Parts: sequence; structure tokens; C-alpha cells
Amino acid sequence: MSQPAVWAERPAAWPKGVIARYLTRAGEALRDPSITVDVVGGGEYHENNIYRCRACGSKSLNSGTNLIYAEEQAHAHAEKCRAVPRPEGV
Ligand SMILES: [Zn+2]
Repeated sequence: MSQPAVWAERPAAWPKGVIARYLTRAGEALRDPSITVDVVGGGEYHENNIYRCRACGSKSLNSGTNLIYAEEQAHAHAEKCRAVPRPEGV
């Protein structure tokens, strides 16, 4: 019997350019903090913020929005996404 997955004490460092990150439903179920929806862009005071899901590839439909809206979209997607990313090298 295998050991249950254990949450890392601290999440891994965020990739360069990521300004907000939301754990997906699959990430939560699999206890994998790398399955996230990430927001990238200029941040506050800019209209070029977008999100992209690291599990299913879903992304913002428009070319960019303010940070609050991009975060709301990312959070909403993370709340429902159950996609599991293909393991690397498989
Ligand atoms: Zn997704």
C-alpha cells in the first residue's frame, strides 16, 4: 500500500512573471500544488493581465484585462477545473 501524498511545506517557487496563482480542483484532489491557474501580465494599473490553466490549457478569451478581472476569471476557472495535466515525459 502506497503512502498518501503529503502537501509540501511550502509551494514551489512561482514561475517568472506569475502574479497570482490558484490551485485547481484536480490539484487539490491530487495534492499537487503545481496544478494551478496562473495570472500573468503587468499587474495592477495595467490592462494586459491574462490567465492560463496549467492543467487544461484554458486561457483568457480576451487579450488582457485589469488585474482584478483576470484574478476573478482565474479563480472561477480553478474552482471548476478537474483536468489532470499529462505527466512530463509520457
Ligand atoms: Zn483548467
